[in-house]
Amino acid sequence: MKVKAGFLFILLLALVPVGSALAQAQPSVTSPEQFFGFQLGADRKIAHWDKMVDYYKLLEKESGGRLKAINMGPTTMGHPFLLVVISSPSNLSRLERLREVNVRISNPRGLREADAKPLIAEGKAVICQSMSLHATEIGGAQMAPELAYDLVTRSDEETTRLLDNVIFLMVPSFNPDGLVMVADWYEKSLGTPHEGGNLPWLYHKYVGHDNNRDAFQTNMVESRYMAKIMFTDWAPQAYLDHHHMGSYGARIYVPPYAEPVRPHADPLVWREQSWYGAQIACKEEEAGMSGVLNMAQYSGWGHFGFHWITPFHNITGMLTESASAKLATPIYIHPDQLRGDTRGLPEYKEQTTFPNPWPGGWWRLRDIVERQKISAWAMLDLAARNRETVLWNAYHKARRQTERGAAGKPAAYVIPSGQHDPLTSLKLIGQLLVQGIEVKRASQAFSTEDGQSYEPGAYVVPLAQPKMGLIRYLLGRTFYPDNEWTRARDGSPIRPYDMATDTMAEFMGVRVDTLDEPVTGGLAEVTAPPAAAPRVIAGPAGYIFDGRLNDSFKAMNLLMDRAQRVRRFAKDGERRRAGDFLVDPGSGPAIAEIASATRVEFAPLAAQPADAPEVKRLRIGMYQRYWGGNIDEGWTRFLLEQFGFPYASLLDAELKKGALKDNYDVIILPDDSTFMMTGDAADETEGRSGDRTAANRLREEGYPPEYRSGFGKEGTEALKQFVEKGGTLVALGRATDFAIKKFELPVRNTLANRPSKEFFCPGSTLRARFDTKHRLAWGMPGEGLVLFFYSPAFEIIPSQFNERYEVVARYSDADILRSGWLIGGEALAGKAAMIAAQSGQGKIVLIGFRTQHRAQTHGTFKLLFNALIG
Ligand SMILES: [Zn+2]
Repeated sequence: MKVKAGFLFILLLALVPVGSALAQAQPSVTSPEQFFGFQLGADRKIAHWDKMVDYYKLLEKESGGRLKAINMGPTTMGHPFLLVVISSPSNLSRLERLREVNVRISNPRGLREADAKPLIAEGKAVICQSMSLHATEIGGAQMAPELAYDLVTRSDEETTRLLDNVIFLMVPSFNPDGLVMVADWYEKSLGTPHEGGNLPWLYHKYVGHDNNRDAFQTNMVESRYMAKIMFTDWAPQAYLDHHHMGSYGARIYVPPYAEPVRPHADPLVWREQSWYGAQIACKEEEAGMSGVLNMAQYSGWGHFGFHWITPFHNITGMLTESASAKLATPIYIHPDQLRGDTRGLPEYKEQTTFPNPWPGGWWRLRDIVERQKISAWAMLDLAARNRETVLWNAYHKARRQTERGAAGKPAAYVIPSGQHDPLTSLKLIGQLLVQGIEVKRASQAFSTEDGQSYEPGAYVVPLAQPKMGLIRYLLGRTFYPDNEWTRARDGSPIRPYDMATDTMAEFMGVRVDTLDEPVTGGLAEVTAPPAAAPRVIAGPAGYIFDGRLNDSFKAMNLLMDRAQRVRRFAKDGERRRAGDFLVDPGSGPAIAEIASATRVEFAPLAAQPADAPEVKRLRIGMYQRYWGGNIDEGWTRFLLEQFGFPYASLLDAELKKGALKDNYDVIILPDDSTFMMTGDAADETEGRSGDRTAANRLREEGYPPEYRSGFGKEGTEALKQFVEKGGTLVALGRATDFAIKKFELPVRNTLANRPSKEFFCPGSTLRARFDTKHRLAWGMPGEGLVLFFYSPAFEIIPSQFNERYEVVARYSDADILRSGWLIGGEALAGKAAMIAAQSGQGKIVLIGFRTQHRAQTHGTFKLLFNALIG
């Protein structure tokens, strides 16, 4: 221990209320220090997940009925995902009844205040907190066993009140796989020059840091466990997610958020954030903790990850962010290295939300553990002291949101039948149910006052329900605010925290209509994702299946896995479209199985067509780098696996060796900067080479030499040779810049070097046209939406061979923005969004927008899939 004795004494006084805790701890309960062999948060020590799981199981046995450790199921890589429930023994003995009471209060339709009263008298405040979602942000997971130990051993008045009045749902690690990776990596780094450096790859099998962008589409199993805990099983009144941030600012950020706010939540949510935040900040100061900042840095309008989506579930969703050490290795910070932040902390100086700046010096994991433990406890304490208020607020939030939904316009959203890709629209319905949104199905036809009519089978999502705000964001349009909060003094737009929209239906390419009047009568509740059995009818010439369905690509891959011949129509014809798939009659037995696995219908094919070339399975390679991994690469791997595309990850060594055409037909470069792919220290193409040199030094210091990746000139030459010999290079997002420059394509990004005041588009859905006659756009609608995320737009520079460059997709000529934020849209009007270029014997496909973003943009998956088959 290097903490000064005097400091420690003050700390203990502050943490331990009079007459409590240590002296009265039940001797039969094993302490974390005894169990792990060190004080959690001690220098150069990280507790491992398997030990933690054992510890929570042990606490369950030793806690005298105060703690339950529930295994929610396996994580992506097979570790247990735990929910630890802590409350009084009496509460835990009737947990199911208390859960039912809580769910009823959170969805109080038909429940008058007088009837709610006894439920609120009986109910308990339900508080959820999760730890270390971002696995390198280790403080939360390291703090949690100590928090649990204190809760099950202390018997002072404060603890007793807390356990009697609160059901604490603790997720001790949101990302156990990542914790395992980080702890193993850290221990290997001990004593080396790279001690405490970052993990060279993603801290999750697929998604790394983006696990916090997955709350609304729940692609990952960990997200589904969290959604089950919060959105359907429990509906806690408040949720706190413990993170880390950079090392050079405040020591801990606590609620509330800064501006701008995202509208459509009940206002009580924002008030409660301030309420909990004030309690947390006060308790930190009482304990003598410096460097506590609130209402800054993190805006109320963030991404739709768990702590930012929960407000729209009427759960007061918040986060803490602690300054990072170097994992468990202390970091030294000079006073003049401390900095303010553009949002709400213009200078690193005293202000009302930051009255006690930390002076600099050594900063260690134990400092983080202590601050986080105080914040976790303070939130529980406030809820315990105000149990009835917390529950009445839950009732008010849900009731008022329902009333707003009933009174406002739109009154409902309709997901009609006859979708371009009906199976994807069913996936959307499934996701709404995961969110705990009420969905209904029309059992009879209905029409609206303005004459729009809907067939039976249309899905209706009424707004008169507690999650009204959430429904508006997922199914309606979203416009990011353009105002004083979102513009700098010189008028430049301030980058939103993440994207400017999270409109799930738009991402998925699902048509959703808005209704200004509610649908009355003829609606049945949908309780499970619809699963109609697909029809399978053989024809004399085999089967045909629909090229507009994403899942047809999965069916195609499953057929090819069984060595079945699959072909595609090359032209539109009677009752068929270019891109529809056909398969031989001999494939019978496999078809039924594949149909039930994919839900794709197989229709009879009457006669052998002349114009249906065979689909060739291509050997796919995808570039994978280190430097912490590339999240877009991870998502793309996940997506390819979901749809059954075999692929190989292509690392530097193999890429640099060359002769790529021997093993691959198509190589994907996921969204990335040239700098990160090539590893070039000061690539001229990146500009600002001075900054780059500094950035390069910083990034190199964190990693051992073997993980400083980059395929350099050799790899670039190998890729050129690959295309020259007939290979296809698919460049996504920013990687199009690499392809254009290194292959000297006569293509220009018309948006490059434009000041943000003239053009700005941070994560928005834009209208585009697809050339459905082009093989790469088969199965797409003629018009649709693409996700633009600081993307390029292309112009083909006149050359002798203009015909070699084909435009597959263009931005619309006018009315381009569907949802998000677009400044200077004229710059995009009619511009190319996706280009197929011939180069040597091969091809280069440039997809500028985010065609497979976070595996959420189902509406444009096919543009990638088409590029991966021959
Ligand atoms: Zn984080």
